[in-house]
Amino acid sequence: MTVSVSNGSTGFDRFGLKEALMRGVRHAGFESPRQIQLETIPAGLAGRDVLGLAQTGTGKTAAYALPLLDRLLDDRRKGPRALVIAPTRELATQIAAEFRTLSRFTGVKMVTIYGGVPIRSQIDKLARRPEIVVGCPGRVLDLLRRGLLHLDQVETLVLDEADHMFDMGFLPDIRRILAALPARRQNLLFSATMPKDIRRLADDLLTNPHVVELANAAPASTIDHALYLVAEPRKRALLEHLLAGDDCDSAIVFTRTKRRASRLAEQLSKAGHRAVGLQGNMSQGQRDRAMRGFRSRSYDILVATDIAARGIDVSGVSHVINFDVPNTPEAYTHRIGRTGRAELEGVACTFVTSSDRAWVQSTERMIGARIQRRQVEGFEPDAEGRSERRRPHGQSRSNGKLRSNGQPRSKVESRSNGKPRSKSESQSNGKPRSNRRNAGFRPGSRRRA
Ligand code: AMP
Repeated sequence: MTVSVSNGSTGFDRFGLKEALMRGVRHAGFESPRQIQLETIPAGLAGRDVLGLAQTGTGKTAAYALPLLDRLLDDRRKGPRALVIAPTRELATQIAAEFRTLSRFTGVKMVTIYGGVPIRSQIDKLARRPEIVVGCPGRVLDLLRRGLLHLDQVETLVLDEADHMFDMGFLPDIRRILAALPARRQNLLFSATMPKDIRRLADDLLTNPHVVELANAAPASTIDHALYLVAEPRKRALLEHLLAGDDCDSAIVFTRTKRRASRLAEQLSKAGHRAVGLQGNMSQGQRDRAMRGFRSRSYDILVATDIAARGIDVSGVSHVINFDVPNTPEAYTHRIGRTGRAELEGVACTFVTSSDRAWVQSTERMIGARIQRRQVEGFEPDAEGRSERRRPHGQSRSNGKLRSNGQPRSKVESRSNGKPRSKSESQSNGKPRSNRRNAGFRPGSRRRA
């Protein structure tokens, strides 16, 4: 939710942020504060601890970055004065980018530290004592132990996506880092879910926190999400079918294992899609290239595992496709939150086989609602084999209509919210969509803003 203002000023005026920061806000193009910002910024400015229950995509980075930066500007000193910890390199990079945008006119210095890349330049930057350090737990701890990172001046600590840090086994590292921080400091903890270990951490860490409970476990209302019942061997064909949909501009496809992610990315590329894998066995350079390519739309499809895709914020992802169901119900909300971001619409399709029944039950219990079931003709679990024999590749019965690309139109794929998707013939990034033997994406279709 955003709050609109009628007096022509940006809705951010209400916070009394310093002018250098307001310039950053305008530079970022933020017109009105998001709900999480409305609720977090005043408490952050007042120096209070904050517990934010919100997922990535809600605007939480700016919610903590703005008060943190404002307070740093009160009195300029060498740092590190603020430490922001994130579970993955991708999220750390995104957080740093947001800080850079917002602090562009302030002169505040920052370094990003994470593993998988040479440590030298991080050490050099730390030696200049930047005010802000954004990092992942492993490398932060490494530098701390080598005596190259000093945390005794830290005034503000942010733990972002704390539940993911727990999932990834980082809690012991976090506790070691906490031990190196001064006792007197401001703590801001953000988490999309509140498992009991995070609750315990929050209890230990936060003093009389201002609690902002934004996202419950339910997916954002801008996401049209549904379960697609399918037999395991037909998943790939169903994926191709969905990717061929008119409204599919750009998709993140989640698989259960790293091997499945790299194999599927390879198969999709061979089939003519602009697809790339993102999984933990890739080097940091490969991961960066994959993310850059996906952000810049050189690739339309990112095939990822949960861990690799944590916290990814790429605007304009029209579809999340869970090729395999996630391990936990919580991961469902996280995964499908990669679309429908920034109040845009998104579609999330989860492939479920007969062995996923227990997962469906617990996920529906967690989100407190039944997830819509959709059946695409020719992909019913009991149609396995029959449909293959009856039709040559790329043709299905559907409703008899074939698109110009020879792909069938499914009559069951209308959006549940009844909202049409806009299409335009030209592609906004101006790049030709090449190498699409299967015409997996319709050229130029873009989501409405
Ligand atoms: P986050 O939850 O921090 O990952 O933010 C999701 C996206 O929303 C980021 O791309 C932010 O730059 C963007 N964003 C954050 N706050 C606002 C705002 N008030 N208006 C417009 N965009 C925003």
